[in-house]
Amino acid sequence: MKVAVIGSGGREHTLAWSLVRSPEVSHCYCLPGNGGTAGLPKTVNVAIAVDQLGEICEFCQTEKIDLVVVGPELPLTLGLTDQLQALGIKVFGPTKAGAELEASKSWTKQLLVEAGVPTAFGETFTNPEPAQAYATKMGAPIVVKADGLAAGKGVIVAQTLAEATTAIAELFDQGFAKIVVEEFLPGEEVSVLALCDGKTVIPLLPAQDHKRIGEGDQGLNTGGMGAYCPAPIAPPAVIDQVQKQILQPTANALAKRGIDYRGVLYAGLMVSSTGEIKVLEYNCRFGDPETQAVLPLLATPLEKVLMACVDQTLGQLEPLQWHAGSAVCVVVAAGGYPGSYRKGDEIGGLAEAKAQDVTVFHAGTELKEGKVLTNGGRVLGVTALGEDLSTAIATVYRGVEQITFDGMYYRRDIGHKAL
Ligand code: AMP
Repeated sequence: MKVAVIGSGGREHTLAWSLVRSPEVSHCYCLPGNGGTAGLPKTVNVAIAVDQLGEICEFCQTEKIDLVVVGPELPLTLGLTDQLQALGIKVFGPTKAGAELEASKSWTKQLLVEAGVPTAFGETFTNPEPAQAYATKMGAPIVVKADGLAAGKGVIVAQTLAEATTAIAELFDQGFAKIVVEEFLPGEEVSVLALCDGKTVIPLLPAQDHKRIGEGDQGLNTGGMGAYCPAPIAPPAVIDQVQKQILQPTANALAKRGIDYRGVLYAGLMVSSTGEIKVLEYNCRFGDPETQAVLPLLATPLEKVLMACVDQTLGQLEPLQWHAGSAVCVVVAAGGYPGSYRKGDEIGGLAEAKAQDVTVFHAGTELKEGKVLTNGGRVLGVTALGEDLSTAIATVYRGVEQITFDGMYYRRDIGHKAL
């Protein structure tokens, strides 16, 4: 079986790493991949960017790819799945219509309300004045969200009305045609990534991300500085509830709109202190860095599971098998991230880290003349498994400490919240 993985981050390295472990997978092409995917067995990087849809389609057709796995949201929102499907190529990831779930907060809000899925109440606005009036009526804290892909920068949790006013003005100034203003939900967040074949939904183990750059969840938002799995805030009974009250009704609502959704339904959830669960957001793809903590625990071959989504046979699949214990992923970033940072520094200690029983997933790296160089803000994701969370945390930091490059930065408290 020939697979193609679209993307170049830590998530895509993890997807390719999981796929090539299966004897069923003979070839894996990463478009464009990174310094880590370049070193995987059976794998080749192909220099095609994720938004070059025509080139991706041509490559997959010429190479007779059996399954395309799309990592990031951008190509999904551009309609890569629709184009590949039109050529008869199997693809894991929703169509353009399905990717609205991530691309438009207002569209999703309406879908969730119609489906009776619990979420923060809020309204959509096309002008600043009524948005401002609504925020004033609701009072702070209040949440202001851009209606469109904003690379993690489109959500402002305003602690005061003055902050809300600034956020509303700035989002319209940036050119967003619509914004959502919604109720602030207190509680603890959890990510539940589920597989969906258009009818059946199967949740994976829950994970928790660490969005802020600084320890103790301080400082600027990032793409994610680390994750652990399973998250004890969502034990099996809670996941059952999420499945029945959130995931399945969402899948049904998508189907009712004529959307054939085959891919990941990623629910970002808020769990209140009384155990109430509400949807903060949906993403239409695997999470990064959650994937680096979730997939290493999955014992069922990934290609089998993804193919069942595409073939709409998820309902006939045996229950997913998981390794016991916990997984932790610590992201190692370039100094300065999420602000400006340097690229091109040589990374050392990768073999020494591996000797500590960790897996090093590459995110922003490049292989040049036999050297691994930094090539992004989030550079590596180091993952360890353990019989419990504290063992996994101890192992992962032993691995991280082996790694060296100029200005490297990582949080030392990944997973501590759950201990
Ligand atoms: P989103 O992209 O919608 O998940 O928002 C990014 C982050 O903003 C979330 O991970 C939460 O930390 C926070 N957030 C979003 N919506 C809310 C809300 N209604 N109440 C509290 N925090 C929120």
